[in-house]
Amino acid sequence: MRLILLGPPGAGKGTQAKILMERYAIPQLSTGDILRGAIAAQTVLGMQAKEVMDRGDLVSDDIVCAIVSERIDEADTANGFILDGFPRTIGQAEALDRMLEEKGIALDGVVEIKVDAEALIDRIKTRAAESGQVRADDNEEVLRNRLDVYRAQTAPLVDFYENKGLLKSVDGMASIEEVSAAIERVLAS
Ligand code: AMP
Repeated sequence: MRLILLGPPGAGKGTQAKILMERYAIPQLSTGDILRGAIAAQTVLGMQAKEVMDRGDLVSDDIVCAIVSERIDEADTANGFILDGFPRTIGQAEALDRMLEEKGIALDGVVEIKVDAEALIDRIKTRAAESGQVRADDNEEVLRNRLDVYRAQTAPLVDFYENKGLLKSVDGMASIEEVSAAIERVLAS
């Protein structure tokens, strides 16, 4: 099963990716996690990405595409993967198409988790408060920027994948269990 999870920051992509990981025994491939790992390890990549991420802007297509291509070549993706947070631009989606074609593999579906923007801001504020470990990109101003970036650069992917016949949308405002059940249903249909 090769899937993309699409949705704005705070839509619950990470949570649903973890559930899908268990269900299908395939890894979650989160570009955000990989980039945060690079920052923690203080690699050159991490140092380049940190400022951009702290502002809530997007890291360059070339960098994230190279990360994903290398990650997909690892042995644990043989039975599939869940892309969480990638692609985020039309350029990335086109690069992913070329990449998968070169590797001789295809996507099974793109799951769009639909949510209301204002409710998201509340949800992310709660996440920041509860975790006690506030992510540098979780404050309200940065979050609003991340939502603007999503609307401008990532939302066009909904039509992109709809036109390819791959889009499956679910209501992300329901409980974690309900969203998970809805994803199971759309993937089975
Ligand atoms: P996330 O954990 O997916 O919300 O990602 C956190 C931050 O990492 C984003 O706000 C971006 O700065 C960066 N990032 C993650 N994935 C991508 C991507 N596919 N393209 C560009 N930047 C990304």
